Amino acid sequence: TNRTFTMIKPDAVKNGHIGNILAMINNAGFKIVSLKLTQLTVADAQAFYAVHSARPFYGELVEFMSSGPIVAAILEKENAVNDFRTLIGATNPAEAAEGTIRKLYATSLGENAVHGSDSDENAAIEGAFHFAGREQF
Ligand code: ATP
Repeated sequence: TNRTFTMIKPDAVKNGHIGNILAMINNAGFKIVSLKLTQLTVADAQAFYAVHSARPFYGELVEFMSSGPIVAAILEKENAVNDFRTLIGATNPAEAAEGTIRKLYATSLGENAVHGSDSDENAAIEGAFHFAGREQF
């Protein structure tokens, strides 16, 4: 069993999709290990997405991700990282498979409803970024 990290992004929170997205996560067999509603400061979003700092969309991404509340969660399942990326679908919702979270709930390429870690190493880094030790079960 291993872990991934997810955020329900500000668009999906604003549009009232927290409950439906958490239900999809549960129904896909993920156990919620840590969970909170929070909001990133601009500095938090810059740090979290530092790997994208040279990309043309970085400013837009940081502004969006700090624009409102998000849900942060650590999830546990066998093959968690890859299975979660399958569940959320392609980055661009126009290219996301039917039945995926992004197909159902994303607004656009930039405002795409959810984040999912891309490796076990990043899942651990991102989980630790959002949750203090006593919040990780
Ligand atoms: P995430 O890391 O959020 O799970 P991802 O791995 O599918 O997404 P990345 O290529 O790592 O996608 O991009 C990170 C995030 O940056 C995307 O989820 C999206 O919100 C935003 N993004 C990516 N490409 C663009 C773009 N061309 N224009 C605007 N925003 C973009």
